[in-house]
Amino acid sequence: MSESFLAVDNLNTFYGKSHILHDVSLTVGKGELVALLGLNGAGKTTTMRSILGLTRPRAGTVKFSGRDISGWPSYRVSRLGVGYVPEGRRMFKELTVLENLQIAETGRKGAWTIDRVFQRLPKLQELRARKSGRLSGGEQEMLAIARALVANPTMMLVDEPSQGLAPLIVEEVYKILEEMKAAGTSILLVEQNALLALKVADRAYVMDEGRIVYSGVASELERDRAMIRTLMGLQEAAS
Ligand code: ATP
Repeated sequence: MSESFLAVDNLNTFYGKSHILHDVSLTVGKGELVALLGLNGAGKTTTMRSILGLTRPRAGTVKFSGRDISGWPSYRVSRLGVGYVPEGRRMFKELTVLENLQIAETGRKGAWTIDRVFQRLPKLQELRARKSGRLSGGEQEMLAIARALVANPTMMLVDEPSQGLAPLIVEEVYKILEEMKAAGTSILLVEQNALLALKVADRAYVMDEGRIVYSGVASELERDRAMIRTLMGLQEAAS
């Protein structure tokens, strides 16, 4: 297996008194695309927030590129080269497409400039002067990815990119993720649609009630029909 780029060890995270993450451990190797799967409320977003320093874990460690970044504030984590495409896209709705990208560009310099992003996503260029609150869901997802790209991350955390999007747009979004992986970016991908994520992932973890209950090679998990049915919400329990 490739060297661990991101290594999360025994994270325990609480919201108030609610113990949400229980000893969550996972790794992502350099250039690897790892899927984090699980039903609604399993703890996937909380895991990402804990890695990013948006929610501070009570115990456990996060190492990135050999450095212990546990407890670091999110702005420092992002400066190290960890990008985030949050669920629901969260952008400055009153700012235009271009302004959203200009704000994000103040991060790390590298191959992805606003011009290059516009070349790759010409639709966004056409919409550069539109307020992002007026974009469609698919256009907003593209902008959320573009915004992460212009900060030139070496690792991306992507939360539910397919949510609420039409199949053709989902295909486009996944094509970009695959291109990023091909360019060497490590990706941790949270997805409700397990089959979709497993098609592009190298490895996968499954969470349930705040715990990692499965980890393995994506192609093997794809063949585990009982698990897939559970993850896709078609059956109560995997046997
Ligand atoms: P989803 O796909 O619905 O986002 P998820 O797997 O990402 O699910 P989380 O969002 O991490 O799950 O939520 C894990 C648990 O933590 C859930 O029980 C949720 O209700 C709870 N939770 C999430 N955010 C908060 C919060 N800010 N305060 C209290 N409880 C929260």
